[in-house]
Amino acid sequence: MTEKGMLNGAPDTLVLAEERETIGLMVALYCRAHHHCELPCEQCRELLEYVVERVKQCPLQAQRTTCGRCHIHCYKPSMQKKIKEVMRYAGPRMLKAHPLLAAKHMLKSLAIR
Ligand SMILES: [Zn+2]
Repeated sequence: MTEKGMLNGAPDTLVLAEERETIGLMVALYCRAHHHCELPCEQCRELLEYVVERVKQCPLQAQRTTCGRCHIHCYKPSMQKKIKEVMRYAGPRMLKAHPLLAAKHMLKSLAIR
């Protein structure tokens, strides 16, 4: 058992899968409204893949909070701008569409200050 695993309480893969699902849903909401795509377009899929890659490599995995509150800004500026736009648009809508996932996401971001 690694120290990281003990602190985390949940396997990294589970956390990552949830994060991916949440971000995926947010990107899909954003894309549908702004790019009028039924499924996330290439540009949006690229953004999602980028974010998931960053999350995977996040040095704060063990005590992870959501990236919105992360003090290490690991996104490159162009991607950061995009993901912020997505979050701003999809955040409030997530509460309606997927209250459970949204609540979990917010709880995580409140857990560490
Ligand atoms: Zn799109």
